[in-house]
Amino acid sequence: MSLLFYKWLSCFRGVIVDYQTLVEKDFKYIWHPFTQMSDYTSRPPLIIERGEGIYLIDIQGKRYIDGVSSLWVNIHGHGRPEIDGAIKAQLDKIAHSTMLGIANVPAILLAERLVEKTPDGLTRVFFSDNGSTAMEIALKMAYQYWANRGVSGKTRFVSLKNAYHGDTLGSVSVGGIDLFHAVYHPLLFPAYHAPSPYCYRCSLEKTYPSCALACLGELERMVEEHLDEVIAIVSESAVQGAAGMIVMPPGYMKGLREIADKYGTLLILDEVAMGFGRTGKMWACEHEKAWPDIMALSKGITNGYLPLAATLTTEEVYSAFLGDYTKTFYHGHSYTGNPLACAAALANLDIFDKDETLEEEPPKIQLLAQWLERFEGLRHVGDVRQKGLVAGIELVKDRETREPFPREEAVGFRVVYRARERGVVIRPLGDVMVVMPPLAIPLGELDRLMRVMYECVKDVTEGG
Ligand SMILES: *Cc1c(COP(=O)(O)O)cnc(C)c1O
Repeated sequence: MSLLFYKWLSCFRGVIVDYQTLVEKDFKYIWHPFTQMSDYTSRPPLIIERGEGIYLIDIQGKRYIDGVSSLWVNIHGHGRPEIDGAIKAQLDKIAHSTMLGIANVPAILLAERLVEKTPDGLTRVFFSDNGSTAMEIALKMAYQYWANRGVSGKTRFVSLKNAYHGDTLGSVSVGGIDLFHAVYHPLLFPAYHAPSPYCYRCSLEKTYPSCALACLGELERMVEEHLDEVIAIVSESAVQGAAGMIVMPPGYMKGLREIADKYGTLLILDEVAMGFGRTGKMWACEHEKAWPDIMALSKGITNGYLPLAATLTTEEVYSAFLGDYTKTFYHGHSYTGNPLACAAALANLDIFDKDETLEEEPPKIQLLAQWLERFEGLRHVGDVRQKGLVAGIELVKDRETREPFPREEAVGFRVVYRARERGVVIRPLGDVMVVMPPLAIPLGELDRLMRVMYECVKDVTEGG
């Protein structure tokens, strides 16, 4: 009896963890997100056991550069003693208590820090636990803002084609990626979808800058025509990430703010992916000083340690919810403002100062730009797009016609598997190769990451 118990315990603590057993259990029990499982179970999976700095280490001890920051969440590297320590210290006090009508120490201090760090005008913080819910909250908050003010008929958002705001149904309703979203169409609430600022494949068949931002003009027309209905303009900040790192052309973000001002509507910016220094500034909306009325943050907020998100808004929006009980914002999650996650987030913010993360970025951004120029010389690279330390490399079958590769060729994933053999973990968005390393990546390792990606793209697309 005691022997059995010991065996179970040691197994639980990881003493008996051989690769083959784990693969069997993975294939038997887990349903992976955004993953075609019949595909996943057809090849040996990568099973991560540890992390160290910018490296992931698998169960067999092989090291990989974490080239997509563990899906865009890691900023300062894995295993940061400052964050480990902050979580352990908080754990000695309390792991969780509710925020419904009660406060906790780290959540209060983090809210203050976020208000100080984010654009002027954002003064109130509503916590949740992932990017989708941060956006869900933004949408409901904006809707109820008008309702509480007694303005009726405001029931529609103006969002963008190719937008990605998360996977809950509200976020999907303002999303615009057909591959992910079309199947749910019957379940979604209607929204106005303005053209995507996707210059490489402009749906208006124009060219920047001679287009004079015609896509933005379309958006303005929608806002104007439906103003009685419009709750808010909803957009990602500076880059449409999940659609393939579509970098908005200069003037676009500023234009969004101007339209919101001109027609007296709200601007909701989703900084879930591009916040926390990814684009070379702390917030992507800083580049054009396009300050939002509501801003959603998540991914980088805890350096990828624990799930946490925040929706920030202005005094104007917040104050519309004050007064009697009918004006209350009846929204919240069990883990809202989780103290461990907030402690991690505070330590994460400290590292920005200590490591001078933003100050260290420019040479890395420059090196990335140099590599992207080299990529442009490859026969099957149609477009390269960069904002700060984020880039997308769009692979095409035919550069002249911009014809994509057939989907069944899975070119993006073939590059990924090739790179994995060479110690680099990346994940594509269709045929767009994504570059999104932790900001802490040293120059030399960024160079290696780009070299491996370059050679793998060349091998796969030029018939290696
Ligand atoms: C990832 C992402 C989300 C959703 O965040 P989750 O934490 O995955 O729910 C929302 N918006 C943008 C721009 C994102 O990149």
